[in-house]
Amino acid sequence: MTYQSVNPYNGETLKTFDELTDSQLEAAMETAATCFESWRNISFAERAVVVSKAAEIMHSRVDEFALPVVLEMGKLVDQARGEVTLSADIIHYYAKNAERFLAPRRLEPSSGEAEITSNPLGVIFGVEPWNFPYYQLARFAAPNLMAGNVVMVKHAGCVPQCAIAFEDLWREAGAPAGAYTNLLISYDQVNNVIGDPRVKGVALTGSVEAGKIVAARAGLNLKKSTMELGGSDAFIVLEDADLDKTVQWAVWGKMNNTGQCCVAAKRFIVVDEVADRFLEKFQMALRALKPGDPMDQATTLGPLSTESALITLLDQVSRAVDKGATLVMGGKRIDRPGAFMQPTILTDIEPDNPAFREEFFGPVALFFRVKNEDEAVALANDSEFGLGGSVFTADIARGKCVANRIDTGMMFINHPTWTAPDLPFGGVKNSGYGRELSSMGIQEFVNKKLVRVASIDAPA
Ligand code: NAP
Repeated sequence: MTYQSVNPYNGETLKTFDELTDSQLEAAMETAATCFESWRNISFAERAVVVSKAAEIMHSRVDEFALPVVLEMGKLVDQARGEVTLSADIIHYYAKNAERFLAPRRLEPSSGEAEITSNPLGVIFGVEPWNFPYYQLARFAAPNLMAGNVVMVKHAGCVPQCAIAFEDLWREAGAPAGAYTNLLISYDQVNNVIGDPRVKGVALTGSVEAGKIVAARAGLNLKKSTMELGGSDAFIVLEDADLDKTVQWAVWGKMNNTGQCCVAAKRFIVVDEVADRFLEKFQMALRALKPGDPMDQATTLGPLSTESALITLLDQVSRAVDKGATLVMGGKRIDRPGAFMQPTILTDIEPDNPAFREEFFGPVALFFRVKNEDEAVALANDSEFGLGGSVFTADIARGKCVANRIDTGMMFINHPTWTAPDLPFGGVKNSGYGRELSSMGIQEFVNKKLVRVASIDAPA
């Protein structure tokens, strides 16, 4: 059964859902395509009424939306509330700014008039992951709906209640049938949807493996795609950083969402001068985390999203150790019910250890000691991933220089990589292509159309 809610805190199966039949999928596709023909022709202001209403509903019922996030994937309740608010902020941001972002842009041709308009494309299909079960949907749906597209979404199998709650949100906000459609579908049906001529673009957020499959299918059908894939963000600590504050951010950057963020700090690269002190303080802070019920505000260490995610990560850690890595702390399942893992630090990870190039999606930190800034930059760049990264230093100009030398889509100075409605999000290399959020995200699935006015008497 692909679509089921299982509480990772105690293993209880909460609900299961059937997949759509092919004829139900066809009916949904036809409704979406029909909806596009009217949705594309209404004004930004009219679309903004619906989209603003969706933001308002989420803002006014934060606890209600947060509950299935906690129950289905084990996010700590305060973080789940934060995700609901962030999602509502993103939706509001596009309701407010989309018209300005997509306003016609006048060109300055050598003669006559010309402008670029931004026209919607049609049905856009999203394949989305469970780790931020509303935020991922909000950053895909809100810009597209405001641009005049309609969206269909295949959400991850383990968060069906969040997927359905988000679809209900749009209905309640007054969106016409077909504007936002949640699809409980199989991988084969995903393939069929991408190939369907009524679908004009594909956005995936997820793993590199899924990205390759979905991007290949989109390419085969000459559909534009965006890919927001995995990462192995470097968290660089230079010798002049404020160590106590840096360690606090290291814990946040590693442990937010129990380490299950594409932009979690995954590789801690610390210059020799402060490496021992950093490692000691980092361990102390990680040891202080308290596992427990994610609904309890006193809990600071939640379970992983699923039992299988835990098994995968434990296996990855033990393979890393077999290949020569040293376990500084953790590495085991916590002896209690639920998918809990000890906060873990690995070091001595040599380039020939597969762990050197893998993404660890959970509470596992890879620790590297380097001589100086140049070595830190070289190590940070020695990765197939290129999503985000951060550098901690008291010297902002120096931080900017380091940021400039690192091959990722995002670099943060004195903060782990993070997100906001008005900051573009995305990567390079195996972390994918395209951007979501900010004024850039809304440009991905629009037709940048040239409209030229020429003199009818112009010489041929
Ligand atoms: P995943 O296995 O790739 O799943 C993501 C989505 O793709 C799910 O809806 C999944 O459906 C679907 N999917 C997977 N294989 C597919 C296939 N062959 N055909 C069609 N659909 C397929 O990723 P995950 O493990 O859930 O999420 C974690 C990954 O996402 C990490 O690598 C993380 O770094 C990355 N991520 C990236 C960003 C970003 O913005 N760059 C943000 C968040 C997460 P099922 O659930 O039904 O398998």
